[in-house]
Amino acid sequence: MTKNENVQINVAGILKESTGAIRRFQVEHERYLEEGVNYHVNGSIELLRTKRGILVRGDFTGVASLACSRCLIIFDQPIRFDFEEEFFPTVSINAGTPLAAGEDDSSAFVIDARHILDLSEALRQYVLLATPMKPLCSSLCRGLCTRCGKNLNQGPCECPTASGSLPESEIAKLKDLSRKLR
Ligand SMILES: [Zn+2]
Ligand SMILES: [Zn+2]
Repeated sequence: MTKNENVQINVAGILKESTGAIRRFQVEHERYLEEGVNYHVNGSIELLRTKRGILVRGDFTGVASLACSRCLIIFDQPIRFDFEEEFFPTVSINAGTPLAAGEDDSSAFVIDARHILDLSEALRQYVLLATPMKPLCSSLCRGLCTRCGKNLNQGPCECPTASGSLPESEIAKLKDLSRKLR
């Protein structure tokens, strides 16, 4: 993933303030390319000075260009998610001495020694969580024919009708017959 300056925020100012101080930012046109999928998100965030660091909260909307899990066409899937993560400083803002930031939790998000809070990795994780596992271009998507591979959203294919689509009465007769044959 490429670094995006949109989501690298210098938080030296707010770190010097007391607990409860707030800053607001817009995150615009944040883009990701992840495993061949293009993501594009926008959001507004609020930075809150906490006792130990900075709590970032916000809500995001955007689109992911995904392949439909039934018919495989690429379509724009709207995504939205709420964001909430605390970031911890790695050096003391006044003394410049190293801090044991998030030492008890190696997955904690940190603010680097230049007081840059980089949202990219956290946002990337939220974006992936907001993406459906089995995306569908439409709830009515008919998918591909399992025999000839034709996209059935574009009309029926030439394949003979599969047994699954026999009328119920015919299926009942067949079941009855197989019971008798046992
Ligand atoms: Zn589809
Ligand atoms: Zn077919």
